Amino acid sequence: MNVLVINCGSSSLKYQLINTDTEEVLAKGLCERIGIDGGMHTYQPKGADKIKTNVDIPDHTKAVSLVIGALTDPEGGVIKSLSEIDAVGHRIVHGGEKFSKSVRIDDEVMKAIEEVSDLAPLHNPANLTGVRSCKELMPDVPMVAVFDTAFHQTMPPKAYLYGIPYEYYKKYKVRRYGFHGTSHEYVANRTAQFLGKDIKDMKIIVCHLGNGASISAVKNGKCVDTSMGMTPLEGLIMGTRSGDLDPAILEYIAGKENLSISEMLTVLNKKSGVLGLSDGVSSDFRDLAEAAGLGNAQATTALETYAYHVAKYIGSYVAAMNGVDAITFTAGVGENNISAREEICSYLTYLGTQVDPEKNNVRGEETIISKDGSKVTILVIPTDEEMSIARQTAVLCR
Ligand code: AMP
Repeated sequence: MNVLVINCGSSSLKYQLINTDTEEVLAKGLCERIGIDGGMHTYQPKGADKIKTNVDIPDHTKAVSLVIGALTDPEGGVIKSLSEIDAVGHRIVHGGEKFSKSVRIDDEVMKAIEEVSDLAPLHNPANLTGVRSCKELMPDVPMVAVFDTAFHQTMPPKAYLYGIPYEYYKKYKVRRYGFHGTSHEYVANRTAQFLGKDIKDMKIIVCHLGNGASISAVKNGKCVDTSMGMTPLEGLIMGTRSGDLDPAILEYIAGKENLSISEMLTVLNKKSGVLGLSDGVSSDFRDLAEAAGLGNAQATTALETYAYHVAKYIGSYVAAMNGVDAITFTAGVGENNISAREEICSYLTYLGTQVDPEKNNVRGEETIISKDGSKVTILVIPTDEEMSIARQTAVLCR
């Protein structure tokens, strides 16, 4: 079955066409600057170079038509016609409490996604625009919604409730939802498979460390806690997001700098994290490592603070599950940043585990990086959210 995976943002649309029988990525691409001047479409069929085209993309429907055009192009295309797209899988950021698994999209599902949109006002409306555009151009193709929040819906109330008046949960559903769920689920399952164990017998901590970062505790195959909250701002220090902080800081800085709440949230979402901590060096861990190597003390402090916070979260999830069998690193930093992994794991020797420097000298490979005989196994498992979305879509559309 050929599944078109769509990840639609307000001004961008990322896609992959995946044959779910062979798990081959037939083609992938990105439409950028939708609705803004200077639109660009990047398309890459399997085994060939990227083709970049400057093209005005006034709306998402135009973007989807470009995608279909590229995929079916007689020269660079990978399918002959639209009829070879059997299903479309859409990444939807927020499923609220309504969705604990992926679903076939119908009018009722569209309405339900719309209803939880005020929990993710930047993402859900854009995701829905992608669905509508695809429906317009592919009315007979079945579509599936795969939610970032769904995997975390198994958390118990003690993990998802905040210590604020309960009425805000009852009235407005203020609670922890968690994000990156597709990645956490995929990586937890791969961890168990890779170790030849049944996930139902395991306690796994997944560290999804990318530009956005989150950790989850997965006990017997179910998520029992995760670090992102009602929004993706909570939890770890990220590329540009602050992660956890004393909420009273908002009023204090807003007063000093004469900023509104929404301006403060921009500071916390866009100007904080390792970018802010490093005093503006970069949100990118490669730049930070380079600057630290050249003696930039604030870049070193940013990297140290980042690793320390990740290690503290790991410790809290060992407590939440009363133990851990495997700790897995994934996403850009988790898969590629050897020194960040080493530094984080230097806090974990109390668990009876240590990183093997030689085994840790890898990037983007499925592998064990802890020393032989460690009580807790530490792994690297590259995430593949698109493949996971394609698989889930195929299951629901057979
Ligand atoms: P993601 O959001 O998962 O794409 O991750 C982006 C982050 O991964 C950026 O901060 C990059 O610096 C980091 N990253 C990607 N490749 C490498 C690498 N080879 N070494 C160190 N960090 C990397």
